[in-house]
Amino acid sequence: MKIIRTIREMQEYSLQLRAEGKQIGFVPTMGFLHKGHLSLIDIARECSDIVVMSIFVNPTQFGPNEDFDSYPRNFERDCQLAESRKVDVIFAPEPREMYPTPMLLSMHVGQLSENLCGKNRPGHFDGVATVVAKLFLIVQPHIAVFGQKDYQQLVILKLMVQNFNFPIEILSAPTAREESGLARSSRNKYLNDEQKIAAPKIYQGLQKALKSFQKGQRISEALKKAVSSELESTGQFTIDYIELVDGATLAEKAKASAGDIIAVAAKIGSTRLIDNIMLIKESI
Ligand code: AMP
Repeated sequence: MKIIRTIREMQEYSLQLRAEGKQIGFVPTMGFLHKGHLSLIDIARECSDIVVMSIFVNPTQFGPNEDFDSYPRNFERDCQLAESRKVDVIFAPEPREMYPTPMLLSMHVGQLSENLCGKNRPGHFDGVATVVAKLFLIVQPHIAVFGQKDYQQLVILKLMVQNFNFPIEILSAPTAREESGLARSSRNKYLNDEQKIAAPKIYQGLQKALKSFQKGQRISEALKKAVSSELESTGQFTIDYIELVDGATLAEKAKASAGDIIAVAAKIGSTRLIDNIMLIKESI
């Protein structure tokens, strides 16, 4: 497995691979890998000859009071896990390599970043879109894989690719979960024992809402209540939002239909967790 630290080397290597007719699959991450990230690698592996994974904790997507400095990092362990999953290249630049000078131009997301996570994280999705656009131009992949756990991010990046004509196909991976149902996340590392017991309530609440939808409930407030009462039963969460949105446009909805998403963000202690579920008519 090759480890590349500079933009120039990565671009040259990708150009060489493309000249050889190789399909490049790309998995962008912030590292501290877990099984969710590994499932993305597997999807990339299936559709490409060479898998590139980036590991970059992107400073521009963190707000001033967020956890950029304390975000969990373990590069050696990440390399071992990536190698065991047959990643071919890790691209791991330092922030000064990606941002040698302040960015005077950047992606601006607009309306799609005004609700859900965008509401309380101003500038977050501009930072995400900007770094992913840079990574796309550096790695030059044919396909890129993102997780459905970060649903708003997935919708925004699909639109970015469409609006800016990036010649890249975006694939998505279902949310990988712990046995308890808790969505896997690098931030789960922050949870203490008590919080680990309460945290799966997010998914349990989403499941309850889904079941209620499948039994015929369509009223947004009722579906959201199914989630909030589950969270409130623990006395441990501060709810940031619980919303019912259109799965394609992220527009908030008063009445649910199949394909909509219920998305949640809640803090447990100081750890912010997110999750979502798609409303489908019958369980598969
Ligand atoms: P991150 O390192 O948290 O920025 O995530 C990198 C990629 O992994 C993003 O596309 C995430 O959506 C995806 N991801 C994170 N957690 C999960 C999960 N539990 N299941 C599936 N994909 C995930």
